[in-house]
Amino acid sequence: MSYDAELKLFIDGNWKSGEGRDAHIVINPVNGSGIADVPLANAADLEEALAAAERAWPLWRLTEVEKRSVILHKAAALLIERADHIAAILTQEQGKPLAEAKAEVIGSASMFTWYADEIKRDYGRTLVRPTGQRSIVIRQPVGPTATFTPWNFPIYLLAKKIAAALAAGCPVISRPPQETPGCTGELFRALDDAGIPKGVAQLVHGKADQVSQALFASPVIRKASFTGSVPVGKHLMKLAADTMTRITLELGGHAPVLIFDDCDLDKTLDMVVPQKFRNAGQVCVSPTRFYVQESIYAAFLNGFAERTSKVKIGDGLAADTKMGPLANARRPDEIEKLVNDAAAKGARVLAGGERGESGFFFQPTLLGDVPTNADIMNEEPFGPVAVSASFKTFDDAIEQANRLPFGLAAFAFTENGRRANLLGDAIESGMVGINTFAISTADAPFGGVKDSGFGSEGGKEGLETYQVVKAIHQA
Ligand code: NAD
Repeated sequence: MSYDAELKLFIDGNWKSGEGRDAHIVINPVNGSGIADVPLANAADLEEALAAAERAWPLWRLTEVEKRSVILHKAAALLIERADHIAAILTQEQGKPLAEAKAEVIGSASMFTWYADEIKRDYGRTLVRPTGQRSIVIRQPVGPTATFTPWNFPIYLLAKKIAAALAAGCPVISRPPQETPGCTGELFRALDDAGIPKGVAQLVHGKADQVSQALFASPVIRKASFTGSVPVGKHLMKLAADTMTRITLELGGHAPVLIFDDCDLDKTLDMVVPQKFRNAGQVCVSPTRFYVQESIYAAFLNGFAERTSKVKIGDGLAADTKMGPLANARRPDEIEKLVNDAAAKGARVLAGGERGESGFFFQPTLLGDVPTNADIMNEEPFGPVAVSASFKTFDDAIEQANRLPFGLAAFAFTENGRRANLLGDAIESGMVGINTFAISTADAPFGGVKDSGFGSEGGKEGLETYQVVKAIHQA
């Protein structure tokens, strides 16, 4: 399958290619080879994009909600129509199996359809005073928005942000990751073909620091949304402070999974193992720290290791591949370091543990008896590694789950309803999945607490992050 992507910037309604700009080489992670050059926005491009967003802002915010909604629905339909084509580009840029890539494109379309409808239900509220006076509370679009998104779900994480922002009435300038310019470009092509007015949705591939410095410093940008690592999130929050730019930060986690001895163990393992190795573990809500009640710990490890050894790894374009390579050369290096550190501190390597011979592969890996002081118990591995330890009581499990500064997602498996309720209350995280991993949907808020950031994406809460509130009092 050939790499059929057009790599361009999209500024003020125009597609722009090389023309003397610096370029970044896009790498196929299956073999580490360069497959294309993506042009990078220069300072003049960024200024042009900001000026275009400023011009588009009063027009887009006053565009009838119905008209905005029609454009977003049309973009969603185009994404679905082009899903096979876009998925093939995504797999070649990022490595995930084709079926996962296609599911990502379809999920991205669902963000557009959901927000295209939700904006029609944005009613505000009326406060009725006894003397005939009224106060009304309305929400208005916050203004031009900058988005910064990562390479693990390059289309979906971008769609989550821009679908809500565009529905709310905010023009967007997006800086996607350099690893995956082709598939993110397709999202903007769908918006362009759907009739988005010029300057309303703009795409600036570019050097991360240069783009974020320029956009945060500009008074045109009123809101930013970032998904990525905690250190970069903290850095952007400091940039946002200087210009009082509102910011949403979705910064990853280190999800605990509490397995209680009353769960259906086989059913649980059939769920958790594919989930762990989905997208080669490069998922901010990936189930990672498995705490298993001691009476079923040995059976859990056996069942997990057996299933892990059967995960077929290979080129994501091959039909039988269940796990592809990691997305870039940094990932296998990091994972190898974490696995070696854990083993040196006494963890048992029960499956995998080695990097691949070529490309950016790392074997699906299970570590048992991982001590608390192993780096991997404290740092997000962001790769295909499950770490495990046993626990005795409910309180022990909760203590482990809440031990880290992260609080994005947590999972638990139990058939005891009362325990499930207590778990939901006690775990410090933005999302809790009990007997399920389905925690990222268009209609529900998704976001973290503690170092995992703040602000929601998805649901009506995701729309509100692109709005400001105004109270109007009338006597
Ligand atoms: P990184 O921390 O340098 O980059 C993370 C993301 O931020 C990338 O998409 C990058 O393009 C972007 N970025 C970096 N500097 C930026 C800046 N100054 N302005 C705007 N955007 C910037 O490193 P990485 O190697 O890509 O990832 C490392 C770690 O990041 C992972 O191990 C994982 O913990 C975390 N991560 C989290 C998510 C998530 O979904 N929350 C996604 C990707 C990476």
